[in-house]
Amino acid sequence: MVTKFVYMFSEGDASMRNLLGGKGANLAEMTKLGMPIPQGFTVTTEACNDYYDKGRVVDDGVIKGIEDGIEKLEAISNKKFGDKNNPLLVSVRSGSRASMPGMMDTVLNLGLNDASVEGLKNKTGNMKFAYDSYRRFIQMFADVVKEVNKEFFEEELVKMKELKGAASDMDLTGEDFKKLVSTFKKIYKEKTGADFPQEPKEQLMESITAVFRSWDNPRAIVYRRMHDIPSSWGTAVNVQMMVFGNMGDTCGTGVAFTRNPATGENLIFGEYLINAQGEDVVAGVRTPNPIAVLERDMPEVYKEFMDITTNLENHYQDMQDVEFTIENKKLYFLQTRNGKRTAQAALKIAVDLVAEGMVTEEEAIMKVDPKQLDQLLHPMFDVKVLDNATPVAKGLPASPGAAAGQVYFTAEAAKEAKDKRDERVILVRQETSPEDIEGMAAARGILTVRGGMTSHAAVVARGMGTCCVAGCGDIVVNEKEKYFTVGSYTVKEGDFISLDGTTGKVYIDDIKTVSPEISGDFATFMAWSDKIRTLKVRTNADTPKDAIKAVEFGAEGIGLTRTEHMFFNDTRITSVRKMILAETEEARRAALNELLPMQREDFIGIYEAMEEKPVTIRLLDPPLHEFLPQDEKSIVKIAKEMNVTVEKLKAKIESLHEFNPMMGHRGCRLAITFPEIAEMQGRAIIEAALEVKKTKGFNIIPEIMVPLAGEAREFKYVKDVITNVADTLIKESGIELDYMVGTMIEIPRAALLADEIAKEAAFFSFGTNDLTQMTFGFSRDDAGGFLDDYYTKQIYEFDPFAKLDQEGVGQLVKMAVEKGKSTRPNIKLGICGEHGGDPSSVDFCYRVGLHYVSCSPFRVPIARLAAAQSVLMNK
Ligand code: PEP
Ligand code: MG
Repeated sequence: MVTKFVYMFSEGDASMRNLLGGKGANLAEMTKLGMPIPQGFTVTTEACNDYYDKGRVVDDGVIKGIEDGIEKLEAISNKKFGDKNNPLLVSVRSGSRASMPGMMDTVLNLGLNDASVEGLKNKTGNMKFAYDSYRRFIQMFADVVKEVNKEFFEEELVKMKELKGAASDMDLTGEDFKKLVSTFKKIYKEKTGADFPQEPKEQLMESITAVFRSWDNPRAIVYRRMHDIPSSWGTAVNVQMMVFGNMGDTCGTGVAFTRNPATGENLIFGEYLINAQGEDVVAGVRTPNPIAVLERDMPEVYKEFMDITTNLENHYQDMQDVEFTIENKKLYFLQTRNGKRTAQAALKIAVDLVAEGMVTEEEAIMKVDPKQLDQLLHPMFDVKVLDNATPVAKGLPASPGAAAGQVYFTAEAAKEAKDKRDERVILVRQETSPEDIEGMAAARGILTVRGGMTSHAAVVARGMGTCCVAGCGDIVVNEKEKYFTVGSYTVKEGDFISLDGTTGKVYIDDIKTVSPEISGDFATFMAWSDKIRTLKVRTNADTPKDAIKAVEFGAEGIGLTRTEHMFFNDTRITSVRKMILAETEEARRAALNELLPMQREDFIGIYEAMEEKPVTIRLLDPPLHEFLPQDEKSIVKIAKEMNVTVEKLKAKIESLHEFNPMMGHRGCRLAITFPEIAEMQGRAIIEAALEVKKTKGFNIIPEIMVPLAGEAREFKYVKDVITNVADTLIKESGIELDYMVGTMIEIPRAALLADEIAKEAAFFSFGTNDLTQMTFGFSRDDAGGFLDDYYTKQIYEFDPFAKLDQEGVGQLVKMAVEKGKSTRPNIKLGICGEHGGDPSSVDFCYRVGLHYVSCSPFRVPIARLAAAQSVLMNK
């Protein structure tokens, strides 16, 4: 059977999203609903995949499908492609399964050439419109298809405006635009070495191929990695008849959200420009009017607009983001999609939709992206400090939240400051464009001079949950010289400013921020998630403070306390170093005795914070050299403090040196060599539990965790050290206390022999950081340096340290679960690697039958929601 690569809008519907992409499927659905949609066709995602499969060649079947599609459009519209009297003009736009705003490109007015522009002029009697459309087409085609920087063209437009004393584009005449067209064609030839293509079919095929190509551009790859979108999805391409918002004052174009995308408020929220084409709104070139102005300008159009958007929202049962154009008072919709929104808006909309009876709680749960919740958990400005700060400028509150940091004026500088110097970064730009995506991702806040609430900066920042103030005309930016001025202030690269994305205010201070709370819609929504999920969610916490924070965020226990973090504290590190330098067991025990009361206090604090919730405490894990100084100056200082010679200290450091410390003397291997360390820690854990039981009455069942085991006998040796001390202490105390000794599964061998290990271990906790490191053979500390090459070459699509590699590492997890249960059916199973807070990895944990996931406090709500969604997705 011949594959059908092209579908007319009238042939599809919303269920065909995988094939037609989001935009194509929705255009088909709206056509089916009888809405005013300029007709067109969709080239499928399969055509895109086929293009890549064939080594970047468009199949003849695809070309044929496109030619047929154009013929059908000619018949529908009674116009002809490239005709000098009545030309058919189309737009070409990408549309993948998941919306990727700003990542893919659009070409408008395709079909114009030196002959058809005259046809358009004669037919509309509007020379200015015809030549304005043509010069836009040349610029867009050059930019998107040939990668000629649009600034070359924009400079000419500015020059022409200066020459004519025109304040805006609209003050130029038809003749002016005609001149610009010829200048633009010259630039095109200069930059590409070829004449601007006059044949519409060639224009079309080149544009469609450019959309296919753009699926694989570096920005798209970065965006996909950030949003878990596999490259195998491909993108569809939509070819749609043009309607014109730039034919005069009864025309216009705009974007609208059926609810407020920043707050979630149930009020239409949109912007439009009279006499303009779509990209003018999105690019932020002209600052648009609020949608309410349309009600005044064209009341009947506004009414129809409101009726249709309400229908769309009811039909899709979600907030819609629509693009529309008005051509001579006739309204057209160019697309609809579920609108991107801030986390705050997402929760309000989800809770409101349930209250309005539009969706069930379960449906509402599926509407919020768990990763987005992160936005709500990050700091806001401390109101007290804010009260005393004076804003110096105000822009649009484009994406809420607070950010304070150092100013950078290019995406590269922002990224470098974050990656290399770990600075808090604020990206300041005239306006952002898709090339800035990595700089935007690195920034805590984004400030732009131009652009409205639907500009690129605003849309992308909201998607990322990054605070953004857009359209801040109060500031004057000089990107080249790296400074901006506002009033009498000059802010240079590296200076601190603060942005309030909720009010749009800008401050020249480094304003203190405070932690958020879970309340209101957030609390309601999380309670629904908790009703549904079956996976427990614990936290990784090393201090009572972190543990308390995590409990506020809904943690049901601690899945990992890394005890080494307690050893770095100033007062303890000396005892730790004494222990390391000790030459006899006796001396080592003496040093450990100094540490014992401190460790006991640590654990008492944690147990008290967690009340009776389960707590897993892990024995010392890192190689010992991490506790010793490395540079000459510190070595001399510490030798003095320790009362040993510099030579002796250096000799010890030398003796602890390992070529691969991550695969060296660490984890339970330390306890094999120095069982007294495990003994001290076991004692502290049990004594603390006995103490808390006695003073607070809390019945704690400590879960003592042995790291890095790879062999049952190794685990058993360490377990015996612990049980000996624990049983003696419990017996002596006369208090009843249960405890468990279990292990991490973080060495591939442990997964392979999990049945043997489970005979001894009461629980498994998957340490997927190390398990990933050891399975891939990638150092977790160094892989970041070369993994980028794997992403750009599309060998790996995702960072395996962030998102569990289900194909490879996942097999080991699955095997260990099955083997573990085979010898100990009631074995307790959890995960404490970083993956425990990643939604797709949480889903994997649910599917393989773990009992809990454990993640950092700030990711606890993410894991709670992801766990609820897993239940619903796997029903
Ligand atoms: C792990 O390896 O997944 C783990 C949780 O331990 P750590 O990160 O401390 O090595
Ligand atoms: Mg580990």
